[in-house]
Amino acid sequence: MRLRTKYVLSTGGLMAAAVSGGLLIGYGWGAAPQGGVPVVVYLAAAVLLLLLLCTIVWIIAEIATGRIKLVLHATNRMLRLAKYLPIHIRGRDEFAELANLINELAGEWIRGLEARNQLVSDAAHELRTPVAILRGHLETMLKGATELKRENLVSLLDETKRMARLIQELQQLSLAESGRLNLERSWVDLSSMLGEVADIFMVEAEEKGISLNCGEPLDCEVYCDYSRIKQVLINLIGNAIQYTPERGTIDIRQSLREDGSIRIEIADTGSGIPSEKLPYIFHRFYRVDDSRSRSAGGTGLGLAIAKQFIVAHGGQLEVFSAEGKGTLFMMTLPAFPDV
Ligand code: ADP
Repeated sequence: MRLRTKYVLSTGGLMAAAVSGGLLIGYGWGAAPQGGVPVVVYLAAAVLLLLLLCTIVWIIAEIATGRIKLVLHATNRMLRLAKYLPIHIRGRDEFAELANLINELAGEWIRGLEARNQLVSDAAHELRTPVAILRGHLETMLKGATELKRENLVSLLDETKRMARLIQELQQLSLAESGRLNLERSWVDLSSMLGEVADIFMVEAEEKGISLNCGEPLDCEVYCDYSRIKQVLINLIGNAIQYTPERGTIDIRQSLREDGSIRIEIADTGSGIPSEKLPYIFHRFYRVDDSRSRSAGGTGLGLAIAKQFIVAHGGQLEVFSAEGKGTLFMMTLPAFPDV
């Protein structure tokens, strides 16, 4: 049953019952015994009054349900067109509140849809090139144009590894962006984690003659997801090594802040990032020097993932850079996060 019908039946029914009762009582007590007003006139007046009441109830029901119909119609339209078309309802009543809530939800929904579409198209774009390379090489090998040699196969295997990494990183990023990242928190000694990550890159740093300094260790722990935070440090320190030329320096500083949070700074004396490109640095697939990053095996997702992981922990990741001088990544993690 429609809301309006329910309205009319319930309110109208109650009013009709009350008025009829009143009229009958009035008739019984007053007019009839003194022989004043004839029954027919009395009944006609009662019917007219009832009709008038029904019309009034109908108009009230129309006005009351008209606003909700407006909300319904606008929501339906948004859903069909998958487009953000905010509902405008005047006033401050519950219908206006409902419309505002729907507007908020629709905004979130559309942003989610757009992000998903963008992610799919970015991923397709990134995968197109390696898949085409792989296919081209395999086809020429099958035709006998290139010899089926070990080194040819090794480069193809590298390409598949890069694709596998890209897919895995995309999966992590999409989980983090949609807020569905499952954090397995435990108390972690960040200083010893930093030592482990520095060890991973020590050989590469030595080969490039880069001095990698870990600074004074802190005597405190952070309640965080061990593997995610380690991944962030690997991405940041890995980038610092990659974008710092030979005989450069990478300084890692750790500090405990007054509000109980822990700050880790990774400063390199590398190529730096031009200021006009800095705002986009945490966007997925953004690379300052596209060909250089790709040829070094970069997926363009490392910083986007790092930022999302830190935000998921209630922390912050900031960047400061001067072109040709170096870059500083500043990561802040709350020691006692709201979980
Ligand atoms: P990639 O896999 O290409 O390294 P990232 O998301 O990790 O992707 O980094 C995005 C881009 O940011 C890189 O391509 C590089 O141009 C720039 N970048 C990241 N870290 C540094 C750094 N320490 N110094 C200079 N440029 C950097």
